Amino acid sequence: MKNKIVAVAIIGLLNFTCAQNKDTTTKTIEFNEKELLDRLETLSSDKFEGRRTGEKGNDSARAYIIEQFKSLNVEGYNSNFEHPFSFENRMGQFDATNILVEIKGSQQPEKYIVISAHYDHLGISNGKIYNGADDDASGVSALLAFAEYFKENPPKHSVVLAAFDAEELGLQGAKHFVETFDKEKILVNLNMDMISRSDKNELYVVGGRYNETLQKIISGFNNPTSTKLLEGHDGTDGKQDWTMSSDHGPFYKADLPFLYFGNEDHAAYHKPTDDFEDITPGFYKNAVKIIISVFEDIDNSGL
Ligand SMILES: [Zn+2]
Repeated sequence: MKNKIVAVAIIGLLNFTCAQNKDTTTKTIEFNEKELLDRLETLSSDKFEGRRTGEKGNDSARAYIIEQFKSLNVEGYNSNFEHPFSFENRMGQFDATNILVEIKGSQQPEKYIVISAHYDHLGISNGKIYNGADDDASGVSALLAFAEYFKENPPKHSVVLAAFDAEELGLQGAKHFVETFDKEKILVNLNMDMISRSDKNELYVVGGRYNETLQKIISGFNNPTSTKLLEGHDGTDGKQDWTMSSDHGPFYKADLPFLYFGNEDHAAYHKPTDDFEDITPGFYKNAVKIIISVFEDIDNSGL
């Protein structure tokens, strides 16, 4: 009899716990998972010749990305998808083009969450195509998943979806964006670079340490997936510091809040073997769900 009472009490507790979870869980993150993989496969196919800034494959990749955005019925920023710029580095003078999409916020249209990934990669070297499936076709395909997600789930803050160019030549697209966009209007940058390949099923997030609200959001994050979201690589743990490793760097330098999402470097990092065949699809889909979910937490809380 005593045991029975205990059992009833435990069942009661479980029910209570479940009900509690139901109330606090963020909504299910839905986007077309097949399209996510198909677009990644297309973007990292040989026909784009490694998407090197200033070369033909980069132009065709840009045309493909814009066509995909158009098919999702989103608008270019200031009515333009293409935002050209020039820069000079040790290798010479370059013309490059950022792709920017704007989605007006329903409640705070004057504040922008900038979600970014870079569409350029390393091109062809010694006859080998560097397809950059993970780096960073994975982030760009995730940008398209965001565009699709926003059709059913309009954001409260305005959003810029930025497919930056010339990341591999020194974070140039992001630098240009930060120099020319009204910084007062930027709430946060969420940057995705290398999010499709992890045998350990671990996604890292960098940037919480620089902003109290972001830190709280990460610490209290209700992960909707079985993939681990780990903080680290942020200069606090003796591992390689990723604070300036990708397009979030110029946002960080301008004292703007940012979160960078990425997996640890793998054998194919900056090699011609960074191909679609070797991504880990389950991890990739989960990574995109996690990032959209973090976006929701930020969009709901503000900073
Ligand atoms: Zn990259």
